[in-house]
Amino acid sequence: MRALLIEDDPLLGDGIKTALEREGYTVDWFMLGREAIRAIGSETFSVIILDLGLPDMDGMRVLQLLRQQSTLPILILTARDAMEDRIGGLDAGADDYVLKPFNLQELLARLRVVMRRAEGRASQILTLGALSIDEARHVVSWRGKDVKLGRREYALLLELARHPDRVLSRPRLESLLYGWGDEIESNAVEVHIHHLRKKLEKHVIINVRGIGYRLDSQAR
Ligand code: CA
Repeated sequence: MRALLIEDDPLLGDGIKTALEREGYTVDWFMLGREAIRAIGSETFSVIILDLGLPDMDGMRVLQLLRQQSTLPILILTARDAMEDRIGGLDAGADDYVLKPFNLQELLARLRVVMRRAEGRASQILTLGALSIDEARHVVSWRGKDVKLGRREYALLLELARHPDRVLSRPRLESLLYGWGDEIESNAVEVHIHHLRKKLEKHVIINVRGIGYRLDSQAR
């Protein structure tokens, strides 16, 4: 999962970024609205978190421009006393809002809800064949047994599981592992997938030669 975070408060932005990364997200964090609008056109994200109080542009305008370009779930961050922002934001296409100041756990829970809704899922547990992923607890199990995964292994598995039976290209998986500015080791995806296949079983993740990988939703 890759999140686009737009928040101009350095402390809060850093806190959100860290919490999301612990949750298995890759985070592209921008402090200006116009940077975010530029980024949405060129990168593949799973969710957008937008602070409505930005220094360079009206947050509501940023929201409208993002919504014009994307159907992704958008969560807005608004001041507790700005009721018009909340209503205006929902009307302008936001999926939900969180009032500042908020608890990071609340933000993460709301994110899980908007993403689940976007995927048309009722449960927080993804079940595919003998594989199950509990997103709230970060517990992966295969054939009923818990499997311990590293952060990047988890992020890759979750992305594949969110798009079961579809081939995800290597560049797309790579972009998930690293935010902008991080250096990408050329074989990082292969290495992590190799470990995943060892920890689960080989036939769960299928290597489509020269293209990428896909997760078999029926694997047992
Ligand atoms: Ca702000």
